[in-house]
Amino acid sequence: MRILLVEDEPTLNAQLTLALETAGYVVDACTNGRTAWALGDVETFDAVVLDLGLPEMDGLTVLKRWRTAGQSMPVLILTARDSWHEKVAGIDAGADDYLTKPFHTEELLARLRGLIRRASGHASPVLTCGPIELDTRSSRVTLEGQHIPLTSHEYKVLAYLMHHANAVVSRTELTEHIYAQDFDRDSNTIEVFVGRLRKKLGTQFIETVRGLGYRLAVPT
Ligand code: CA
Repeated sequence: MRILLVEDEPTLNAQLTLALETAGYVVDACTNGRTAWALGDVETFDAVVLDLGLPEMDGLTVLKRWRTAGQSMPVLILTARDSWHEKVAGIDAGADDYLTKPFHTEELLARLRGLIRRASGHASPVLTCGPIELDTRSSRVTLEGQHIPLTSHEYKVLAYLMHHANAVVSRTELTEHIYAQDFDRDSNTIEVFVGRLRKKLGTQFIETVRGLGYRLAVPT
């Protein structure tokens, strides 16, 4: 799952980037509205954390432009304390949730998990596929109750597939959601990660759809 973080305060930006990466997300971080707008327009994100008070282009304008252009990713806005009108304007501009500064990182992470799972139609923070369980709160994966250690890339691939269970996901789409923009992306590595996941979890869950990509088949 890939997050765009837009926060102009350098310390908070660095803190949140670290917290998000530790939680298993891929993060593209930026510090001004113009860059944020451009990134959100061309790259694909599973959620955005958007501060409203930004240099070059304010967060509200960025959000309105995305929504006008049809960008529908979940957006969580960060608002200043005691400014209820910012929240109202933000939600009316297309924000899905908000947090008032200062906030606890844990709350930000919980709200993001909620936004991401609702965007893909999941009600519970624990995603299941037959005997496989993926807990989005702890980034832990179990098979028949046994903990299966995964590398961070294996986890990112599995988490994306489980959020989009039963759908065909192309290698390009997976690549876009497990690497940040400035990363040297190689879609061949996806095949390697899928191979390792099959070894660890069993070969029957991740199907190869010839010429199209992969599908996580949930047993019925
Ligand atoms: Ca700010």
